[in-house]
Parts: sequence; C-alpha cells; structure tokens
Amino acid sequence: MATAPREPAPGLAGATHAVSNQPPPLEPYNVFEADLPMREALVREGGGWGAERLRNTGELAGSPEALEHSERCERNEPVLHTHDRYGNRIDQVELDPSWHWLLREAIEREIHSLPWRDPQPGAHAVRAALMYTWGQVNAGVMCPVSMTHAIVPALRENPDAAAEWEPRLTSPDYDSGALAGMAMTEKQGGSDVRANTTRAEPSTDGTWEITGHKWFCSYPPCDVFLTLAQTGEGLSCFLFEGRDPVFQVQRLKDKLGTRSLPSSEVEFLGVRGRLVGDEGRGVATIVRMVNHTRLDCLIGSAAGMRWGTVAATHHARHRAAFGATLISQPAMANVLADLAIESEAATATAMRIARAYDEDGAPFRRLATAVMKYWVCKRAPGHAAEALECLGGNGYVEESGMPRLLRDSPLNSIWEGSGNVAALDVLRAMWKEPEGLPAFLEEVELAQGEDPRLDSHFTKVKSSLHSLGEDAQWLARRLVEDLGLALQGSLLVRHAPAAVADAFCASRLGGGAGHAYGTLPAGVDSAAIVDRVLAG
Ligand SMILES: Cc1cc2nc3c(=O)[nH]c(=O)nc-3n(C[C@H](O)[C@H](O)[C@H](O)COP(=O)(O)OP(=O)(O)OC[C@H]3O[C@@H](n4cnc5c(N)ncnc54)[C@H](O)[C@@H]3O)c2cc1C
Repeated sequence: MATAPREPAPGLAGATHAVSNQPPPLEPYNVFEADLPMREALVREGGGWGAERLRNTGELAGSPEALEHSERCERNEPVLHTHDRYGNRIDQVELDPSWHWLLREAIEREIHSLPWRDPQPGAHAVRAALMYTWGQVNAGVMCPVSMTHAIVPALRENPDAAAEWEPRLTSPDYDSGALAGMAMTEKQGGSDVRANTTRAEPSTDGTWEITGHKWFCSYPPCDVFLTLAQTGEGLSCFLFEGRDPVFQVQRLKDKLGTRSLPSSEVEFLGVRGRLVGDEGRGVATIVRMVNHTRLDCLIGSAAGMRWGTVAATHHARHRAAFGATLISQPAMANVLADLAIESEAATATAMRIARAYDEDGAPFRRLATAVMKYWVCKRAPGHAAEALECLGGNGYVEESGMPRLLRDSPLNSIWEGSGNVAALDVLRAMWKEPEGLPAFLEEVELAQGEDPRLDSHFTKVKSSLHSLGEDAQWLARRLVEDLGLALQGSLLVRHAPAAVADAFCASRLGGGAGHAYGTLPAGVDSAAIVDRVLAG
C-alpha cells in the first residue's frame, strides 16, 4: 500500500526548519590555487614548471564530483569474492566504480610515474605536489599509486624484469598499464622482517617457488608485487604476478580507516617469483621501494593536515557563536593559527625532501626522510582531532568528512615503520651512513643567526647528539622529534612569512606554548597566519 507523503501543518515546517548559520559548501574550490604554502614551496623546490598541471588537478580535486566519488567509494566498501558459483577459486575484489574513477585520474595525471617518465629537474617535487593535492580527495586510493611509483628503483635491480614491467607500471593508461604492491608483513611480525617464515625454493627454469603467508597486503588486485622470502642465503626479494593462480587472498581486513582500500591477508601456495637484487640481500633491495613509500607517508600526512586546516578555517569563517564569527574570536583564532602553522611546516618539509630525490643529495635524503616520516606522521592524528573539533558537533558527523580524516590519520605512522621503529631507524641511519647527519645539520644551519630560538634549539640538538650513549633507544623519539623541529624551523625561518616563522619558533622551539593546539603565546599575528590558509 502506497503511503501518502506527510504534510506538515501549514506554516510549521518553515518555522522549525529554517537553515541558518551553516557554512556554505566549500566546493568547488581549487585545492592547489587556494594553497599559498604549497604554491610557494613548489616554485622554491624546483617544480614551478608543473604549476599548470597542479592547477588542473587542484580544480578537479576541489570539485563536488571528486568529493562525491570519494564519499561513495568509502561508503561502498570493497568486497572479496574468493570463489565463483561453481566453487572455483577466483579471488576477485569487487570495487565501487568511484574507486576506479579516483584511481584512473591519479594514473592519468602520472602521480605514479612522473619522475620515471620525465626525469627532468623538479619532477619529484611536482609529483609530490600532485600526490598531496589528489591525496586530499581520498587517502586510500593513494596507496596503490604510491607503491606503483615506489617499486621502480627496486625493480631495476633485475634489469630483465624492469624491461618487461617498467613500461606498463609507468604508463598513464589506466586500462593497459599495470599497478604494483608490496607484501612483507607476516603474522608473527612486521617490523622485524628477519623473522619472516615464507620460503622460496629455486626451480630449474631460473624462477623461484614461494610458499608462505603475508598478514598485510594492500590492494591485492595489483598486477605485480615485491615480497620477501627466505632462501639458503637468507631473506631475499622477489617479484611475482598477482594473476598467479596459487596466489590466494584469504580475507580483507576490517580496518579503522582507509576503508575504500582493500587491504588483505594472502597465501602463497608455490607462487612463481623472480629474484630481484642479490640473494640474501632482500631487505637492502626492498628498502629502495620503502624509502619512496616513506616519503609518501609524510606527503600523505601533510595532505591530511592541509585538508583539516582548510575545513576548520572555512567553517570558522562562516559560523557564528555568541554574536561573532568563530574566526574573529581570539580562542578560535589561536587554534586555527596553530593548526595552520603545523600544516605549513609539514608542507614545507615534504616538498624540501621531495626535492632531495631530484638532486644528488642521497645523504640528506636518507636521514631527512626517516626523521620526517616519524615526526610529520606522528603529528597527524592530534591535528585531525583538533580540526574536527573546530566544526563542533558537525565535525563529528560523517557528512563533514572529518571523521574519515581522523580515522585515516594514524595509518601513515604505522605503515612502513611504526613510530618506535621509525625513530630507531633514524639512529641506525646515523650510525650506518655517517654522512647523513652532517648533511641534515648543514641544511638546518642555513638559517643560523636568523632566529635566536632556532639557534638555541639547534645548539641543544647538537649537544644531545654528542652525548648519545647507551640510552640512545630510550631517547630516540625525543631526539628525532628535536631533529624534525629543527628542520621545520629552519625551513620556515628561511622561507615562510615572518608571522608563521615567528609563531612556529615561539611555540615549538621557544617553550612558549602548552601541550594542546590553540596554546600559542601572546603576540602571535594569527590573522596573518590564518589569512594564508585559503588564498583568494
Ligand atoms: C592499513 C594497512 C595497510 C598495510 N599494508 C601493507 C602492505 O601493503 N604490505 C605490507 O607488507 N604491510 C602492510 N601493512 C603492515 C604494516 O607495514 C605493519 O603493520 C607495520 O610495519 C608494523 O608491523 P606489525 O603490525 O607486525 O607490528 P609489530 O612489528 O609487532 O610492532 C608493534 C609495535 O611495536 C613497536 N616496536 C617494534 N619493534 C620495536 C623495537 N625494537 N623497540 C621498540 N618498539 C618496537 C612498533 O613500533 C609498534 O608500535 C599495512 C598495515 C596497515 C595498518
């Protein structure tokens, strides 16, 4: 029986449902064009030639269409079909068409391949800016984009495999190109990959037969993967194809965030693999991939902070309470300025380190990636929670996008080296590659004499480095945090407007702020800082 629509009593609906004091939708806006800190960083780090590409990507990224696709594929989560109706194993992951829309756009924009296809100066910086811009639409979809980009340097350790796969992996054609993934983590331990139990046995045709399991393997529909397995010589790196019928997907993970992205548990029942790099040197080989994905973790966290800062600022500009817009009220201006400084520091850092991948700056690149992977990713969840709170109860509601931002925010700190492991990796890098630390300190020192708070922080860092002894692991997080702050301070003092640099040094280096966001000391020019958030 059809139900008649309920008619409200005359005059009542309008009276109770007047919508007022709600901000207008932010979309459409140009995600790149509105982002002054990124626009400046792009030019500074040698990627100015990519501005038009970024404008184009930023326009789509800030469109209602992109937002709708992102929300849709988060809602319609991937589904694993292990068998067909006859009982045959198929291991197919059903994905929402919006997922493919988002991924196709990323691939056609060469976010997975630009520096390999067009290795001109600044290519890594342009690609990082693209990753950051499109990453603000959907974090999950950037996982296969990142891994496909990152696999190339490792794959080149097997020239035959690279000759066969690199053209497809770097192709901007979504339909005929290929995507790459990584499967290292096992049930009994992800950080300590030496404990891997997966084994590879040599076959007579020169390939290897891999048997074992992996506890995490994101995006199993990939065409190829790198994995680690034990051989007679020790842990070794192998390339295998996703269509191998004995590569089986056991189940998809029910995750906190990045819910549009299928992450899985997989089984190798004699998968055919090709050795990449030297036998027994698997970690050294796969680290070539991991260094790039670590850079992407930091770019991804910077993207999340940027998105959160924009959403909070937009809301506060339009929402009023107690007779004035939120943005005009000092306590809120303090929070927004604090969020903006953190975001700007993360953007500047991500872009400076991306440039190091364009240059012959391996020592700086290695240590700076490790330090900032720890520090920027570690700052993201607190930042997301505070940005969410700027929207009040509206921020707690899914439609605002803020719950997704918060759910996604811890991942970059876990993946590719969880907090402690990332901090310990910095110690290891300092000891094993001793040229890295001087290169890092040299970069910080470029701002020497510009701000006394930065100078004294730097003196403190150098002295703690000298006195590092048996308690190094105990102190690792604090040391890496101080190194991260030193680099961020140096970049902002040299390149950001005085208001931003001053507030950063006063709060992060001068001990002038409290522990929560929104505790910047008196005298900070919050209007100058917040005005930069949404240019135009
Ligand atoms: C959404 C998602 C997607 C992922 N996708 C992939 C993928 O595609 N491929 C893949 O291979 N992996 C993937 N991973 C796995 C991820 O890389 C691992 O979870 C991560 O490396 C940590 O390993 P673990 O979970 O075994 O934790 P553990 O290694 O058990 O570590 C647990 C905790 O102990 C700490 N810890 C470890 N060692 C030390 C130490 N020596 N001193 C002090 N503290 C220590 C760690 O920092 C961590 O906090 C994914 C994970 C997630 C959440």
